[in-house]
Amino acid sequence: MNDSPVIVLGAGLSGSLMALYLAQRGMKVEIYERRQDMREMEMSAGKSINLALSVRGLYALKEVGMEDEILSICIPMKGRRVHPVSGETNFQSYSSDNKKAINSVSRGDLNKRLMNRAEKAGVVINFNQRCTGVDVESGEVFMKSELSDETYSVQGQTILVCDGANSGFRSSLLYRPRFDFSQTFLSHGYKELTMPPTISGKHKMEVNALHIWPRSHYMLIALPNLDGSYTCTLFLPYEGKPGFENLSTPEEVNAFFKKDFPDALELMPELADDFFSNPTGHLVTIRCKPWVFEDKYAIIGDAVHAMVPFYGQGMNAAFEDCTEINRLVGIHGNNWAKVFAEYEKNRLAHGNAIADLALDNFIEMRDKVGDKAWVFKKSLEHLLEKEFPESYVSRYELISFSRVPYAEAQQTGEINAGILEELASGLSSPESFDRNLAKSLILQKLGNRVAGWKSAGLLTL
Ligand code: FAD
Repeated sequence: MNDSPVIVLGAGLSGSLMALYLAQRGMKVEIYERRQDMREMEMSAGKSINLALSVRGLYALKEVGMEDEILSICIPMKGRRVHPVSGETNFQSYSSDNKKAINSVSRGDLNKRLMNRAEKAGVVINFNQRCTGVDVESGEVFMKSELSDETYSVQGQTILVCDGANSGFRSSLLYRPRFDFSQTFLSHGYKELTMPPTISGKHKMEVNALHIWPRSHYMLIALPNLDGSYTCTLFLPYEGKPGFENLSTPEEVNAFFKKDFPDALELMPELADDFFSNPTGHLVTIRCKPWVFEDKYAIIGDAVHAMVPFYGQGMNAAFEDCTEINRLVGIHGNNWAKVFAEYEKNRLAHGNAIADLALDNFIEMRDKVGDKAWVFKKSLEHLLEKEFPESYVSRYELISFSRVPYAEAQQTGEINAGILEELASGLSSPESFDRNLAKSLILQKLGNRVAGWKSAGLLTL
């Protein structure tokens, strides 16, 4: 094997995992990371940010031997607890058996543990080093030290680009002929807020759920943390009322929460402080093509397919990119040209599909989960899954609880929607659906795809 190191740009979630995968194959790997080492930084109390980790991400962690370690710092969320403005909350299970769960995990803890493991496997991480661009033909990467402003270049046997949505590497490709690039910002931004634990350190709401306050064109969500707190995220338009531009005083923020999220407000004593000290984040969808060039580089994760967070899949998809590259290295070794060509062929359509699905799911979360007709169909769908487990699986399960390629899950979701529409028409209760019609529709429209995924091992972890 070529003795020069593989260069990984970014020690975020995908960069640390990618480096670990390759180091476990005996490769020499060096990471260049723009920020300082997060393991040496003080995390301010109550500021943990969490992510939902699901089957695709867990599969990758299992492959590198970290599944149990990471599951031990996760809180399983078996469904959504929906909070209307007034009246009773209701629980909507993610799976028909009410057992499968997505997992709330601290982004910082996960990232630190991945870095620790990568270093233990021999990876060298150079912090405070920013990539500013690349000479594509030669593979020379341009760097700048964030500490001394010194500029220099590095070259390895190849480059794995994991520097996130604002990729410095990608910026130097923008003027390259035939490099397609688009970025589309959502008209909504987000604000992270904290719901602290009780005095005795307990959670103030149900623990094993993702809490949602759907309010038609905006929403609040909350994911549990191990320390008894919740990280809440408010998704709101920038303009209009309500909108971030019209919430400029503590009184306005409190009045807005009192009207729209009264039960959450009672549990958020620091609301106004948090609101004005935390930045408003932007939500962007990025698509580009090509993702690779010869044997020189491959781009992974948010740097090629940043997506809005409403399916909880950005990190899971980025981890799945790493899994695929690792699989291909298993076949082609360091014949990077072959690895990269197949990586792009096998992943690009799926990156775009999950970015589309994430946009669709915003409407589901902020609006449909509070809609009676939608809840009716969801109950019917769970009944179909129970009655026809060998041939019907919901789109949510395919995305979150399986490794079925995203574009196939997307297409199957569209077929499922047609089946549900036909079966639900004129029904008074989900339980009274026509079993014979369901059986024939499923057979005719879905065929034996579910059995195929099962035999390929994609429907179980
Ligand atoms: P990142 O994790 O962003 O890592 C990029 C790394 O590169 C960083 O360490 C950065 O410092 C470094 N870097 C940046 N520029 C340079 C440079 N020029 N040179 C060197 N290094 C550089 N995903 C889920 O799966 N589940 C969720 O529940 C979920 N929730 C989310 C909620 C919100 C509000 C947001 C915004 C995102 C959420 N995501 C979620 C998406 C997830 O955070 C990303 O998809 C994931 O972090 C992508 O990993 P990455 O390694 O590609 O990028």
